[in-house]
Amino acid sequence: MDKMQYAIGIDLGGTKVAAGVVDGQGRILGRSHRPTEVDRGREVVLENTVRAVREALARSPRWVRGRIQAVGVGAPGTVEAGTGRVLLAPNLRWQDVALGQLLQERLQMRVYVDNDANCAALGELLAGAGRGSRHLLVITLGTGVGAGLVLDGQLYRGAGGFAGEVGHIPVLPDGPLCGCGRRGCLETLCSATAVAAMARQAVSDGRGAAIVAAARRIAQGQVDARAVMAAARWKDPVALAILREAGTYLGIGLAILVNLFNPERIVVGGSLARAGEALLGPAREELARRALPGLAQQVAVVAAELGNQAGVVGAAALALGWGRKEPGPGPEGAARAGAEPAEG
Ligand SMILES: [Zn+2]
Repeated sequence: MDKMQYAIGIDLGGTKVAAGVVDGQGRILGRSHRPTEVDRGREVVLENTVRAVREALARSPRWVRGRIQAVGVGAPGTVEAGTGRVLLAPNLRWQDVALGQLLQERLQMRVYVDNDANCAALGELLAGAGRGSRHLLVITLGTGVGAGLVLDGQLYRGAGGFAGEVGHIPVLPDGPLCGCGRRGCLETLCSATAVAAMARQAVSDGRGAAIVAAARRIAQGQVDARAVMAAARWKDPVALAILREAGTYLGIGLAILVNLFNPERIVVGGSLARAGEALLGPAREELARRALPGLAQQVAVVAAELGNQAGVVGAAALALGWGRKEPGPGPEGAARAGAEPAEG
């Protein structure tokens, strides 16, 4: 795993593409970011990605440039990790794009691709709150809710690359309508979007004065999750109650995951995780109430440490072989290995 010491990590998002040169301890030695410009089509997105990589390299120490062995990319969607194909990425408006191959041609380096939630999990595993864990779930609470599952030291992707879609675990029968068309999915109850909806409800009920004041100060008047978190820091009881409700639903979701996977650590990241203990405290309480007795005591629920760098660091970790059984050879190597007995 430490044969390769330096990799490039790319966090390809719908609005911004970030690249970094990262070492084997997860330290970023040089970085850059550019607008993704999804509207201008796939070629421009690839150009912006390559430019971000070249700038990150130019900003890195000279001695590291010849030592980079591979590139990792986290993409927002469903990825066929073995081939590096992006099967479906609504935020990029992409369907079946051979991202790994296209970048490999442009960068002349081996490129590994996985989805952004898996990369965030590898980032926390390499250099964040998941360091040293073998059984780790990294949950991201943002616009939606996603997760990366590291089971027995390896990323678990499932049959079609959809493993970790914890945002669509049903937790409340007849709950709010979800973007997936179902009701009561976890992300309708504990995402930044859900918290914003609860805040707007409180405002229209006449209970949201402190949240509105916070919104004016920090969010250009927009009543969103940031405003709720700010009001909660000022001990506004309405904001704290909203975060408690979201945290309680998070705890129900965590209880399902803990009963299923028996992880040693759950790292909670994403924009809503900045709420800290106002959210995580109620989540831990609910987890202890709901999980099989004994199991909740085996898991630590902690806040993510890498913030918005998790994507770049984790994509580099992917390139460095973290979360894989065998760093390096990939499908061709496996095919060669399979052919050996016939030759011998
Ligand atoms: Zn859903």
